[in-house]
Amino acid sequence: ALTIGALQQWLYRFASEITTQADWLTELDSAIGDADHGTNMVRGTAAVVTKLDGGATGTVQELLKAVGMTLVATVGGASGSLYGTFFIEMARNSPADVQLNGSELENALHAGVNGVIARGHATVGDKTMIDALEPAVTALSQSLADGQQLQCSIAAAAAAATTGRDSTKPLVARKGRASYLGERSAGHIDPGAASAAILLAALAASIG
Ligand code: ADP
Ligand code: MG
Ligand code: MG
Repeated sequence: ALTIGALQQWLYRFASEITTQADWLTELDSAIGDADHGTNMVRGTAAVVTKLDGGATGTVQELLKAVGMTLVATVGGASGSLYGTFFIEMARNSPADVQLNGSELENALHAGVNGVIARGHATVGDKTMIDALEPAVTALSQSLADGQQLQCSIAAAAAAATTGRDSTKPLVARKGRASYLGERSAGHIDPGAASAAILLAALAASIG
């Protein structure tokens, strides 16, 4: 199971990886957007770190909800409400407990991704964060259904997110700011798909 401590490690790691990759995320966004995805995500994840450092998060539900609210309030841009929704929907579909087992994590992540889809109306192939998130939860479910350990299944989810991120490169964007570019959006990785792959990689690294 994933304890609340492991979930906190996930979020700390996400924040530190976002900081490390911020220039790259902004560079991706400068090609097909407005060059702020790195700074948006650094601002949001730094606020999450401040929140975590404040301590006392109680249950998984409370932790994930606090993260979502913090991201909504600080990230800004399209990605702020989408990442916020992801964590708030995860929270709403998590137990009021101090850990998540495999099927609880699977349910929570599915709900998070479905929340992003409900809010942003993107589907796989639209060149958004959904291209990384959706294959990740599908891979997690498949791996758990195959009887794999949670750790191995989360690694499979992270690998699928990376493949999904890379799959956005040739695509023409159909959602978000990049869609204003039309055909000129092709040839660049989507910044939100890149940050979503970081989110999954951080999860995989936190359960080792
Ligand atoms: P903004 O575009 O407002 O400057 P960011 O640069 O922080 O916000 O985030 C851009 C990312 O948000 C995109 O790369 C894409 O992955 C994601 N995104 C934008 N619109 C949508 C949407 N409707 N559904 C899913 N993801 C989206
Ligand atoms: Mg942007
Ligand atoms: Mg912006």
